[in-house]
Amino acid sequence: MLILGIETSCDETGVALYDSENGLLAHALFSQIHMHADYGGVVPELASRDHVRKLLPLCDQVLADAGKVRGDIGGIAYTAGPGLVGALMVGGSVAHALGFALGVPVLGVHHMEGHLLAPMLEDNPPAFPFVALLVSGGHTQLVLVKGIGEYEMLGESVDDAAGEAFDKTAKMLGLDYPGGPRVAALAEKGTPGRYRFPRPMTDRPGLDFSFSGLKTFTLNTVTAAESAGGLDEQTRADIALAFEAAVVDTLTIKCRRALEQTGCKRLVIAGGVSANKRLRAGLEKMTEKLRAGVFYARPEFCTDNGAMIAYAGCQRMKAGQQDGDRIVAVPRWPMNTLPPVGEPRAN
Ligand code: ATP
Ligand code: MG
Ligand code: FE
Repeated sequence: MLILGIETSCDETGVALYDSENGLLAHALFSQIHMHADYGGVVPELASRDHVRKLLPLCDQVLADAGKVRGDIGGIAYTAGPGLVGALMVGGSVAHALGFALGVPVLGVHHMEGHLLAPMLEDNPPAFPFVALLVSGGHTQLVLVKGIGEYEMLGESVDDAAGEAFDKTAKMLGLDYPGGPRVAALAEKGTPGRYRFPRPMTDRPGLDFSFSGLKTFTLNTVTAAESAGGLDEQTRADIALAFEAAVVDTLTIKCRRALEQTGCKRLVIAGGVSANKRLRAGLEKMTEKLRAGVFYARPEFCTDNGAMIAYAGCQRMKAGQQDGDRIVAVPRWPMNTLPPVGEPRAN
């Protein structure tokens, strides 16, 4: 079964072709980052309009790359939420229109389930059950994953997501969006130990996170350095390193707890922040000690992409799930309300 995957939940248009027999055949991404740069954040209406412009050309591009034609498509998966409602509607409309024209099933997919399953696109995919750390621009969650659609929430951020904290720290250090990769690059030049940032909520039991205090700590450190007349390049790098080390340590401590608490030997990390090298290294070291393993996707499949939507959609469509006639667009949508992959969905 050849599945066309469509991702338009925010500011990236992602399209991919995934074949249930032969795996990922092609994928393409257009990022709108430059379009929103002047506004200091994603402008929803501009995002929707640009998805309209890019989506069909990208669909044609992946078909050409894979040597396929529209008639070869056996099903269409699109991101139905969470995300910006207008942006979601574009993906959903195109998916349903194409599905109707081609006479193939269509299914709205949960964006975070897409992220969660992205490591399955790699060689040596993790077996169920596993603990997943979802770390992206909008989410920081620890989930016990027993199967597709069998999600038990173990903990989550009570305020900002880890990616959001990276982005805000970047801004304070004068770096552009998306901040994560830029903070990480600056941190490479940092002096270890010059600053020490707190590891929020690690001194008490539980698996929840909080990153807004860390953001304030960064702000105070930047302000203090500035008023002392010393926010030079080295100081900025030292702050970036101290911030990154604090986030990585905090995530690592909670992941270790989740593995110990559940007895799981496999940890999956997914979402944009899972591309972070220091985080990967920290988790490798921690899991080695527990004789456990850590799994993640290639960097381009950590952030938003069409491949993860095609893959997640394919798994559910193989089990017979599909939308009714209506486009599904759910801006807020807790992942643990999804049905197990085997059960038909009512929508
Ligand atoms: P969500 O998936 O929660 O709806 P999103 O789609 O905006 O949010 P993603 O595309 O998964 O999030 O990830 C983007 C986030 O990942 C940004 O906050 C970005 O700064 C962060 N990020 C990307 N690469 C890195 C990196 N190497 N280190 C740290 N953070 C990173
Ligand atoms: Mg994005
Ligand atoms: Fe995302």
